[in-house]
Amino acid sequence: MKKIVSVILIMLLVMSCKNPTEKKIKNTAKANEFAIVIHGGAGTILKKNMSPEKEKAYQEKLTEAITVGHNILKNGGTSVDAVIKTIQVMEESPLFNAGKGAVFTHDETNELDASIMTGNDLNAGAVAGVSNVKSPIALAKEVMLHSPHVLLSGQGASVFAKEQGLEMVDPSYFYTEKRFESLQKIKKKMKAELDHNTTTAFYDPDIKDAKFGTVGCVALDKTGNITAGTSTGGMTNKRWNRIGDSPIIGAGTYANNETCGVSSTGWGEYFIRGVVAYDISAMMAYKGVSLKEATTEVIQNKLKKLGGTGGVVAIDKYGNMVYEFNTAGMYRASMNDKGVLDVKIYKE
Ligand code: ASP
Repeated sequence: MKKIVSVILIMLLVMSCKNPTEKKIKNTAKANEFAIVIHGGAGTILKKNMSPEKEKAYQEKLTEAITVGHNILKNGGTSVDAVIKTIQVMEESPLFNAGKGAVFTHDETNELDASIMTGNDLNAGAVAGVSNVKSPIALAKEVMLHSPHVLLSGQGASVFAKEQGLEMVDPSYFYTEKRFESLQKIKKKMKAELDHNTTTAFYDPDIKDAKFGTVGCVALDKTGNITAGTSTGGMTNKRWNRIGDSPIIGAGTYANNETCGVSSTGWGEYFIRGVVAYDISAMMAYKGVSLKEATTEVIQNKLKKLGGTGGVVAIDKYGNMVYEFNTAGMYRASMNDKGVLDVKIYKE
């Protein structure tokens, strides 16, 4: 009898240790077998500044982008593929500040940043300050898969892109009148302020269209792998080869299958200082809190206290999706494993 009890006890012990690293997340149940969530930037996005046509254009592009990724996941494709293809739809649209439609630097050039991370192996790739690669997110993936490095920048990143056979473009490909005008407006306003010696800020949230517009995507595939990716032109009027949070793993992008995947958008300097994307994952890992609790704490409390504005989209390992932002709006969409689509722009 004693022997049988001992055997049962040992079996129970072995079973409980089967996956000793499996983290328990509080108040969280399995929600989706696969899922996808995207953003097209956060900022001073107000209904009063939006025409019905413009609103419709954003809604349609967000829907088109997320549907591409959702179809990949539904058909058993990888979350890496879903993130890349979804982001590329937005990179190719001048509506967003990524790829075509990227904002201008102070020197009237476009410098693009992007990153991607996979949650099963914590592998990551990123690029900063590229100006002649059509799809920065595709280049970030190449860095992740085919280079010994995580983050490449400038000229070197272009050389690597050519070696990998990626589509190269003339820097003028990224020119759009709307973004160029935004830069001129900011410069004019800044000059007036500098003349009165009131500010040295490079960014002015009051100027319409100078708002953020980065794109990002997080996907969970049927194998349980989470991928997060982000692509941007950075912030209008940036100088001195400024690099924002979007290509910084842990700030703009993070994925870990034990917790969640996150893509950020907003004033990058604050996201870097707050290590926002990793902080959300770390709160879940160390405190066992839910994704919603972690994103609320990080975006509405910690980031705000720093003075940072912006938001994130995220998915946890159970397929729960979250949007969280502390700005007036964030272009965003999600789609669950039943194909239920949600597209939103303003704060509810
Ligand atoms: N986070 C980006 C940056 O600071 C900007 C954005 O999200 O719109 O470069």
